[in-house]
Amino acid sequence: MSATIPDTRQGRLLEVLACPRCHARLDASLTCVVCGCAGRRDGDRLDFGGFAAAELTADPLNRLKELVKTRLHRLYPAVIRVLSPVQDRPGLVAGFLRTFDLGRDLVADLGCGTHRRDERVICIDGGAYGNVDVVTDLRRLPLADGSLAGGVSIAVLEHVPDPAAHIAEMHRVLRPGGRMLVFVPFLQPFHASPYDFQRYTEVGLREQFGAFEVLGVRVGAGPTSGLLWVLQEWLAMVLSFGSRRLYRVILPLTWVLSPLKLLDLLLVHHPMAAQAASGFVIEVRKPE
Ligand SMILES: [Zn+2]
Repeated sequence: MSATIPDTRQGRLLEVLACPRCHARLDASLTCVVCGCAGRRDGDRLDFGGFAAAELTADPLNRLKELVKTRLHRLYPAVIRVLSPVQDRPGLVAGFLRTFDLGRDLVADLGCGTHRRDERVICIDGGAYGNVDVVTDLRRLPLADGSLAGGVSIAVLEHVPDPAAHIAEMHRVLRPGGRMLVFVPFLQPFHASPYDFQRYTEVGLREQFGAFEVLGVRVGAGPTSGLLWVLQEWLAMVLSFGSRRLYRVILPLTWVLSPLKLLDLLLVHHPMAAQAASGFVIEVRKPE
């Protein structure tokens, strides 16, 4: 099974490849027939240039995260799910993916990290992790206009300096009627991956996606998650008495509080949850 399904994913990806710079056709060696921009093959992975190693290791906490990501590969999301103070609304991404016929509809995970949410979903990221199908700058996707039926972008937009450029690129590669599911943080402490630039309110998020039809905005991670992560940072900060080294020792100890996030399985449904949510999820459709 695993031998045939990835072939299908790769084959369908090759059909919609285009120059990341001018969107013209690529030849068999992944070189643009118009502007000469070129990608390269790295096994099954297509590489159009992502993060430099130095970018991924500049922030000390992200350096540790990258080390764990590279060591643990696909276990990393499971480890984060247990240790992190953030409880996502259950089934959020899986439920969205189920609204597609993934055998027919091409769907991409833009900024997948080490996640592989489904064998039929194209994994695209700036980092060359083991699960990634296409390494690229997410503002310059090597995909033809209107080539995707859907996409997900989970906890990505806070990490880019120019979210509008990323959203415009989502709009370009979606076909008319195509849908995106996007998760962004509201109340979360600083977390570089490899950078961290902004947070979103519910209205701010709707504003960002003005070129789309907004199908809905929901609390994607609840207020306990919002509170817990801040509390963990606060405890590590106060108890480390100004020592960065001590802070880095204490912070992981505060993760013992993380199971309290399970309260959000209930509180995510609270009518006022958006007031102090850890994050929002927006579903949008490109107008026909
Ligand atoms: Zn080109």
